[in-house]
Amino acid sequence: MSEFGALSRAELARRTALAPSTISTLTADLLRDGLIVERSETPVPAAGPRGGRPATLLALHRSAGLVVGIDFGKTHVRVAVADRAHELIAERSKQVDPDQRSATHIKVAVRLVHAALESARANRDQVVGVGMGLPGPINRATGQIGDSAILPGWVGVNASKAMSDALGLPVSVDNDANLGALAEWVWGAARGCNELAYIKAATGIGAGLITNGRPFGGYGGTAGEIGHTIIDPSGPICRCGNRGCLEMLAGTPALLAALQPTHPDITNAADVIARARDGDSGCARALTDSGRAIGTALATLCNITNPERIIVGGELGAAGDLVLDPMRDALHRGAIRSAGQDVTLCQSTLGERAEVLGAVALALTRLGHALER
Ligand SMILES: [Zn+2]
Repeated sequence: MSEFGALSRAELARRTALAPSTISTLTADLLRDGLIVERSETPVPAAGPRGGRPATLLALHRSAGLVVGIDFGKTHVRVAVADRAHELIAERSKQVDPDQRSATHIKVAVRLVHAALESARANRDQVVGVGMGLPGPINRATGQIGDSAILPGWVGVNASKAMSDALGLPVSVDNDANLGALAEWVWGAARGCNELAYIKAATGIGAGLITNGRPFGGYGGTAGEIGHTIIDPSGPICRCGNRGCLEMLAGTPALLAALQPTHPDITNAADVIARARDGDSGCARALTDSGRAIGTALATLCNITNPERIIVGGELGAAGDLVLDPMRDALHRGAIRSAGQDVTLCQSTLGERAEVLGAVALALTRLGHALER
């Protein structure tokens, strides 16, 4: 159960090849000593259908240690605390200014971690691992965040060391889309699926990939930078030096810029989505265009990696079918038939918490927890 969160007695018997009567005796001893606890169902970090029959499950007691997840987005820091039975026990978030220095963001995160631990009536000494997500490619060799227009104050910073120094705890870092993929795989819309891509569609557009049941980061950790797929070679110049990258055409700033002349009062993706749902055809059109552009890039992704499922998250993923329908159309138009037929495109079930839950999952994997479902 240290590996899988919480298991029933029958599942424990199956995995250990011990007789059910032996499992009953052993678990009774562990329960009496307070080393494990009984649960009526598996921990669920977000809303969504789970299926299966409810069973009494056994999980490690909180005294086995806590893990912390930290997620930085363009305008937020989000923190989650979970136990080693994979149960979420506290969450905190705060808005931040994206143009501030990384040291300022780190101070905010440290305060949130302490507040979350306090609300869980826990302290830092109980924390055995910390995972952290940032919106940009993380160099595996140096631990530095590469080019990031999303959080410019972090470029060149050794993120793992900086946060580790501030917290006094070891910190593992990964790209936010990779963490979204991890969370959806363990707890969300990609459970039970070992070939998947998670798309974080927000200010930037990134993909997290899991292939053959393992996160795929490429040689240096940059795999999945789908936002810099060239969609329109004569399009606007991107920060990466190319023209017409997906991010320039389909990211939130592009939508807001396209709507500026007719909808000058709209300043964020949530407003675009709300107005589109209210029947505003201009806002619906902006979301359609974004979905089509992302779908075109996903067609190529499908041809190359042949995923079973693509989960769409980020603030634009929250538009649901308003972006997913045009995305599906473009994907099926652009992908070869077999790759298109194999894939199911669906909305994130973890929503805006996908990345911070992925940071929790990253910390658990670094402790040796096997998270495959
Ligand atoms: Zn680019």
